[in-house]
Amino acid sequence: MNRIIAIDGPAAAGKGTLARRLAAHFALPYLDTGLLYRAVGRRVLDAGHNPSDPVAAEAAARAITPDDTQRSDLRGPVADEAASAVAAVPGVRAALLDFQRRFGGANGAVLDGRDIGTVVFPDAAAKLFVTASPEARGLRRYRELLGRNTAADLATVTAEIRARDAIDASRAAAPLKSAEDAILLDTTELDADQVFARALALLPGFA
Ligand code: C5P
Repeated sequence: MNRIIAIDGPAAAGKGTLARRLAAHFALPYLDTGLLYRAVGRRVLDAGHNPSDPVAAEAAARAITPDDTQRSDLRGPVADEAASAVAAVPGVRAALLDFQRRFGGANGAVLDGRDIGTVVFPDAAAKLFVTASPEARGLRRYRELLGRNTAADLATVTAEIRARDAIDASRAAAPLKSAEDAILLDTTELDADQVFARALALLPGFA
């Protein structure tokens, strides 16, 4: 059995927090694949191009290095929107596929994103689809922004999350959707500790 845990789901569902904790628990490396798309989006903006431009977006995806994912400007509405736009470009997804597979290939890993269980690692040993109501996700993202001293409006944040999910779920290339064999984990009513406990209970065979 491989040691890949694939965690997919919409924005602000709690994927990252859960993935980090599972990685620590199972002593596996963790990759937040959203950061790759965010870094590509930023590179395209830096070059003065439109993130939806397939040629500019694919060129940026082919040029990214692991250091790009350490940038301090990968969060916030502008980066969110640019990431979602480049993520709809098939050439971008193809360019990032090898990086993700290499990351998990040798000794296993926890990866979170939108297409880990469907496209990147369809044979992952464990697949979770983590979701929550749009209202709960909007509230979490809103609190996160306030925690970073960023001014935010709850209704706007929730509307942006809904809009990004709609784009991610309706695109032709690797749309956001649950793998058929993924286990659904709804975090609407759960805090981070409860989500972690539930996930461990759902992955009994994973060691
Ligand atoms: O997970 P995060 O919100 O950081 O992802 C940012 C954007 O990157 C998503 O809205 C989605 O468009 C894209 N993405 C993707 N596939 C992944 C991870 C992220 O398309 N595996």
